[in-house]
Amino acid sequence: MTQFTDLGLAKPLLKALADEGYVNPTPIQAQAIPGVMAGRDLLGIAQTGTGKTAAFALPILHRLAEDKKAAPRRSARVLVLSPTRELATQIGESFKAYGKHMGISVAVVFGGVKYGGQMRALAPGVDVLVATPGRLIDHLQEKSITLEGVETFVLDEADQMLDMGFIVPIRRIVKFLPRQRQNLFFSATMPSEIEKLTGEILNPNPLKVSVTPAATTVERINQRVLFVEQQRKRALLSELFDDASFKRVIVFTRTKRGADRVARSLEQVGVEAAAIHGDKSQGQRERALAAFKAGEVRALVATDIAARGIDIDAVSHVVQYELPNVPEAYVHRIGRTARAGADGSAVAFCADDERNLLKDIEKVTRQRIPSFDRRNDRQLGAATAALPEVAGKPERQDRAAAQPHRQGHQKKPNRNHSQAKPGHRHEGGPARGGNGGGGNGGGERPAFKGPRRGGDQRSGGGSRSGVWSNR
Ligand code: AMP
Repeated sequence: MTQFTDLGLAKPLLKALADEGYVNPTPIQAQAIPGVMAGRDLLGIAQTGTGKTAAFALPILHRLAEDKKAAPRRSARVLVLSPTRELATQIGESFKAYGKHMGISVAVVFGGVKYGGQMRALAPGVDVLVATPGRLIDHLQEKSITLEGVETFVLDEADQMLDMGFIVPIRRIVKFLPRQRQNLFFSATMPSEIEKLTGEILNPNPLKVSVTPAATTVERINQRVLFVEQQRKRALLSELFDDASFKRVIVFTRTKRGADRVARSLEQVGVEAAAIHGDKSQGQRERALAAFKAGEVRALVATDIAARGIDIDAVSHVVQYELPNVPEAYVHRIGRTARAGADGSAVAFCADDERNLLKDIEKVTRQRIPSFDRRNDRQLGAATAALPEVAGKPERQDRAAAQPHRQGHQKKPNRNHSQAKPGHRHEGGPARGGNGGGGNGGGERPAFKGPRRGGDQRSGGGSRSGVWSNR
């Protein structure tokens, strides 16, 4: 089996890898690193959990170590585009971790925070800039950043970019890049629009590496489905948390409001919980994530978009409070556990009107998920009756329900998408081609407004999105 020491990586990188405890490259790393070190373009078909971040960060850092020079002012030597703030932050953290013994500077730039700190951070030039597309375009228009000095361009999670309406902004950004450059392009799937984009961005004959973790991830995860009445899911969730092995759990809901309600309902039964979704401020999300990572909260309740790209080790369980509308999201969700080769457990709740969604999931994942029927369960009935009301409006009936609900007397009629309030729309479904459609959860919309030119832009914002350097 290949070891990192066989790949010819610069010494400071090997030292950092040893610090991380990484010995063997993952398949995508073993296949991508030598070619990228040699300067080739790369087309990587891979999703999070495969080790793709290190697959591009390590050879890029190696090239920086081999060719030390100052980054050009207001520019960067490496540009990484990420669809979401969370993923951008994580990529930035990975560059810092792997580059910690080699004197590099890393800046992360995303929307939702002030411009001033980002401008100051970029002013002297940085080695690596990780950015979300909308905010980067703002900076380019204001000329606070130029891309003239970019030697290597990484486009991460291209298919998510498509889902979030970022394809046009990406094409605009590419126009700012020098013609001669190395390109690394990553996508979990290859819809035709993405394939077209690869042709526009990559140099001819890129190295192609495809890893298909979906099946292997699915196989490594201990999965089960629990059939349960919609109105008893709260009691069932609380019952799961009676099991002490549910140590660090991500609970998925389909809606933002659902996430808030589930988090509150867990708190009511004494389970520390935090919700993250697109309506939370950047600060709230960061605090929630930090508390979850530190083990201060047992449950992180998240919508699909907010959870995208979140890489937290040692997630013991993934619970799907509702099944997702798109079967692929099921695979993404359960992939939050079983990170980096570990095993994990995934539990999905399925109400009667979600059976069609379950069928689709089993078809796509080509598996039959072991199921247990908890309907008409007395204990759950009693537990449900004993639960206190959750504050706030009751959750509306989910649109995704594939069939009309039979207990019509208890439920409000289904509402369709067009009737749903924008703030409460589903975040899970793809919204191809839309402008940031599907909610602006973990990402930012392509905003073409320039930064405000008011005096306040020079103040604050520096610590969170500023530059990091160990030079
Ligand atoms: P990624 O697919 O980049 O999101 O990485 C998934 C997880 O695997 C992250 O927690 C990485 O820190 C971890 N990881 C990446 N490469 C390795 C490796 N070679 N050995 C062990 N863990 C790794």
